[in-house]
Amino acid sequence: MIAEPNGEPVILIVEDNARNLKLVRDVLNHVGYRTLEAASAEDGLALAREERPGLVLMDIQLPGMDGVEALAQLRSDPATAGVRVLALTAFAMKDDRERFLAAGFDGYLEKPLDVRRLPEQVAAALAADSREEGVA
Ligand code: MN
Repeated sequence: MIAEPNGEPVILIVEDNARNLKLVRDVLNHVGYRTLEAASAEDGLALAREERPGLVLMDIQLPGMDGVEALAQLRSDPATAGVRVLALTAFAMKDDRERFLAAGFDGYLEKPLDVRRLPEQVAAALAADSREEGVA
């Protein structure tokens, strides 16, 4: 089931792999979300401050600053502290899930991403009213 975008939230995708970035962007655009894209944590942080996205999809392994450090910076800036952030990670271990949630991510999406589930995972993250649980 394709979830309807709610209030046209903007979704920021931070992903250094061009193919993954295009995949996520195309799926989200197809179901009606507006997206912003960054290929590095530094560019993603700048966009997040300027554009106030409703959700950030944050790759963990990035050139330079990684996704965990980028999340810490988002959380430490009052302008972006409350944004929902899902980790994009190739790691599938249970310990990693716990580590990402402990770091303050609102959930995580494992790569390779399931493009059929991505819209509902994003909708669930946007609809969540608590950061207690991961959404994926
Ligand atoms: Mn990466």
